Amino acid sequence: MSSIDRVPSITLNDGRSIPQLGFGVFQIPLEETKDATAVALDVGYRHIDTAELYGNEAGVGEAVAASGVDREDVFVTSKLNNKHLDFDGAVVAGRQSARDLGGYVDLFLIHWPLTTISDFLPRWRALEQLQKEGVVRSIGVSNFQSAHLDRLLSEAEIEPAVNQIEVHPYLVQEELRRYDRDHGLVTEAWSPLAQGLVLDDATIVRVAESAGRTPAQVVLRWHLQRGDVVFPKSVTRARVEQNFEVFDFDLSDDDMAAITALDRGHRTGPDPDSFDFVPE
Ligand code: NDP
Repeated sequence: MSSIDRVPSITLNDGRSIPQLGFGVFQIPLEETKDATAVALDVGYRHIDTAELYGNEAGVGEAVAASGVDREDVFVTSKLNNKHLDFDGAVVAGRQSARDLGGYVDLFLIHWPLTTISDFLPRWRALEQLQKEGVVRSIGVSNFQSAHLDRLLSEAEIEPAVNQIEVHPYLVQEELRRYDRDHGLVTEAWSPLAQGLVLDDATIVRVAESAGRTPAQVVLRWHLQRGDVVFPKSVTRARVEQNFEVFDFDLSDDDMAAITALDRGHRTGPDPDSFDFVPE
C-alpha cells in the first residue's frame, strides 16, 4: 500500500471526509508557496491548509492546478481574514478564496473569533451562505473556545464541522478537544510541532529513540492516535517526506500518556479570548 493510501480519512458531521494528515503553509512567502506545495503534493499529501491572512492562497491554487493531481482529489482548507467582519464582506472574501483555490474551497473557517471587537454570528451566516452557494463545501471555525462554541451552536443553522485550535505536547487541550468531540466537531491541531519547540524535549527524544523514529514523527503519531487532524509545515523536502511517514508504527499507551503529561499550558500563538488583530 502506498503512503497516500495509508492516510486515514475522518468523516465530518456534514458527511464529507477529510484526510487526517495535511500540509500547512503558514509563514511561507507567496513566491515560495507554489514550490513548497508542489513538493507536498509530489510526496503524496492531498490536504493543504492555507488562509487569506497568510497571503499565499494563490500559490496553493497554482500548485494544485499545475500538479497533475485532480482538484477533486485534494482537500484545501482556507480561512476568513480577520478584516472581513460583516456578512457582505465575508461572502465576497469567501468567493475570492474559492477563485484562488481552483473554483471552490473544501473547508472554510472563521479564522479567529475576535469577540472583543466583533460578533462572529454575521460571519457565520456568511459561511452558511457560501456553503449553500457551493462556493465552499464544509464550514467550521478556528480558535474557538467552548464559550464561543456554546453561542455559535445555539444560533447556527448549519453546525461547524471542525474547530482548528493550537494543540501540541505543551498544550494538550484535553477539555476543549472533549468539548469538540461531545458536540460533533473534529479537532484540527495547529502548530502540531509547536513550531519545533517540543522536538528537543527529553521525553519525546527518548520515545523517538526507542521507536527508531524522529521526534517530529513521534509527535505527529501522538496527534494521529488521539484522533486529531494535523498539517505540519515545512519548506524542507526531507522533513516533508519524514512527516508523511507516520502510518507504519504505533505508540504504546504508556508513551502516549508520557507525551500527554508534558502539558504545561504553553501557547506558541495568541490567546483566542483576547486576540484582536485586524490587518489593514
Ligand atoms: P509546525 O508546528 O508545523 O512547525 C513548523 C516548524 O517546524 C518549521 O520551523 C519547520 O521548519 C519545522 N519542522 C517541520 N517538520 C520538521 C521535522 N520533521 N523536523 C524538524 N523540524 C521540522 O508550525 P506551524 O505554525 O506552521 O503550524 C502548522 C500549520 O498549522 C500552519 O502551517 C497553518 O496551516 C496552521 N496554523 C493555523 C493557525 C490558526 O490560527 N488557525 C495558527 C498557526 C498555524 P522548516 O519549514 O524550516 O523545515
